[in-house]
Amino acid sequence: MRYIREFRDAPTARALAERIRRAAQPKRDYYLMEFCGGHTHAVFRHGLLDLLPDNVHLVHGPGCPVCVLATSRLDMALALVDRAEVILASYGDMLRVPAARRRTLFKARAGGCDVRVIQSAGEAVELAAARPDRQVVLFAIGFETTTPPTALAILEAERRGLANFSVFCNHVLTPAAIQSILDAPEVRGLGAVRVDGFIGPSHVSTVIGSRPYEYFAAEYQKPVVIAGFEPLDVLAAIGMLLEQLNSGRAEVENQFTRGVSRDGNLKAQSLVAEVFELKAECTWRGLGRLPYSGLRIKSRYRSFDAEKRFRLKEFEVTENRACQCPAVIRGVKKPTDCPLFATRCTPREPLGSCMVSSEGACAAYYRYRNVKRCASSC
Ligand code: SF4
Repeated sequence: MRYIREFRDAPTARALAERIRRAAQPKRDYYLMEFCGGHTHAVFRHGLLDLLPDNVHLVHGPGCPVCVLATSRLDMALALVDRAEVILASYGDMLRVPAARRRTLFKARAGGCDVRVIQSAGEAVELAAARPDRQVVLFAIGFETTTPPTALAILEAERRGLANFSVFCNHVLTPAAIQSILDAPEVRGLGAVRVDGFIGPSHVSTVIGSRPYEYFAAEYQKPVVIAGFEPLDVLAAIGMLLEQLNSGRAEVENQFTRGVSRDGNLKAQSLVAEVFELKAECTWRGLGRLPYSGLRIKSRYRSFDAEKRFRLKEFEVTENRACQCPAVIRGVKKPTDCPLFATRCTPREPLGSCMVSSEGACAAYYRYRNVKRCASSC
């Protein structure tokens, strides 16, 4: 805990806020996208907005794996749990995300389907070993951070000869999402959303390194600062971005030097490359169909691919039109722009993924809407 407290120190937070105030030129506005929902929650939990000058704006990005999972993929998971032989091993957040016709894994479980909440991919492997009479499917979601554990689970299941273990793979890639944001009509030119630079995700970057962001700095002239998830990390990154923008630089800087290198974790990358390959196209909630933006299991490991084992098909589904999650995910709208926010949609009765997830922007706005000052919580 001492290590965490060092990154929540109030006097240091005030010093960093002062640095930001000095850097923010009064005649210009700064629009910074925090890609990851973990940063959004850090900003709201610690009241960091109150420390920023009025001309420094944070735009919330699509970096929450639960939020961006296409409803059609959740419907596929629901089709899986309807099979009597299947135990679906899922991370907890996914259970309350509404699919088509507002069905959820939670309701499916209440109706007798076998859905187990896990904390790690390894737990699903152990479950398969303990229940040879059932088919255990790991509902694998996440950006690059959670991909190596899924790869490891498949390799471990193969080593142990677990023929009743498979993975429903929904892993997606951060650089593809950033590219889609930068190419979106609302961001390009005089669109509705302005993004001057990115606060990059540290957990993803421990795996992929800082190198993949260099393309966005060079080609789109957007600075990226990779930041940790503690309040001092976020404040330091904002200050670094402002200094880059003031001096006309567009570079990749690494605030999270305690965990991220330029090349990332090569061992984890080779593990992922052994088991997964790029999918030609992948559907995202909010971002649509993006080329080479997700992973699938290589044919060498196809016996562990739940989509092949159970012949799952992806269908177009009609989204709840009243829910503004797609616009929130793209940074076009804020959660409070949604007429359902905190009225018909709450964390207790969520209507969209952004209100369910522990990294969702709507959940952050709802949960921390009364947090005012950083000094009391840092
Ligand atoms: Fe969707 Fe609820 Fe957020 Fe509105 S408040 S965008 S319905 S999750």
